[in-house]
Amino acid sequence: MALVPMKQILEEARKKGYGVGAYNVNNMEQIQAIMAAAQKTKSPVIIQASRGALKYSNFTYLKHLMLAAAEENPDIPIAMHLDHGNSLESAKKAISLGFTSVMIDGSLKEDGKTPSDYKYNVDVTKSVVEYAHKLGVTVEAEIGRLGGIEDGVGSGSVHITDPDEAKKFVGETGVDALAIAIGTSHGAYKFKGDKKLAFDVLEKIRALIDIPIVLHGASSVPQELIDRVNKYGGKMPGATGVPMEHLKKAIKLGVSKINVDTDGRLAVTAEIRRVFAEKPEKFDPRDYLGPARIVLADLIASKMNDFGTAGHAGDYAPKTLQDMIKEYSKVNA
Ligand SMILES: [Zn+2]
Repeated sequence: MALVPMKQILEEARKKGYGVGAYNVNNMEQIQAIMAAAQKTKSPVIIQASRGALKYSNFTYLKHLMLAAAEENPDIPIAMHLDHGNSLESAKKAISLGFTSVMIDGSLKEDGKTPSDYKYNVDVTKSVVEYAHKLGVTVEAEIGRLGGIEDGVGSGSVHITDPDEAKKFVGETGVDALAIAIGTSHGAYKFKGDKKLAFDVLEKIRALIDIPIVLHGASSVPQELIDRVNKYGGKMPGATGVPMEHLKKAIKLGVSKINVDTDGRLAVTAEIRRVFAEKPEKFDPRDYLGPARIVLADLIASKMNDFGTAGHAGDYAPKTLQDMIKEYSKVNA
């Protein structure tokens, strides 16, 4: 089985200067599409589930779908990651399901809406690191606050990450990967005016911390997908995302993990709308979920090529959580 700690996937990516997409999932077709793309491009991959997705799938279903992905693809390094965990309890739950990585988002309080303060963030992150590392599980945390709201997560306010605070935070918490805010946001409406990211802040942070950096809210929201959604009866005027050129630059400047949720949703929705509009006689879910799965796989394969992930699946021998337990205990000794 190729389930590996996310720390390994990100550190290998950082060594070689490429990015790894973390793709959000809720159901079987999405997971199959991601794995088809990973197989086609020979890419390591991070499959992530939000708390909302886990709840939607009654936890157990998503767990087994992810495990099925690992069983079916023994040659692909896969990390199972919890996206936006809100408490030690949510991390414990994900780890009990077999996740090899968890995010604790202490930039917000447990309700996922109220901005927290630095001390709260350090305290809750530390508690998760302490618990997870004993079990070999990777921890991602967040400092600064993203705009937008997705899956009920988000405060609506933006706070660009302070590089010195990021440095202090990493030192105080011992996290493995850090999500930063440099102007991206969750959802399909990321920019009102100029599509600007604070690359200067990213450069400063990269110079100050020595762990992989994560970019949330990094869907590109391709106009072509929005056009197809709208052409077949959708209503998404003015949707915008982060241009791929910006993401490539961010990867070059040191981002290792790129979170993609919105684009996958758009691809699936556009294709299902097309089938409904063009073949109104169809009523077998396979007639629209099947084509949606193909379109999603193509979209993700192109991201794997753009992020530079393609071709790296066989670069390294997968580590186990047991290996990580040993590594973490050395650091703490
Ligand atoms: Zn996020």
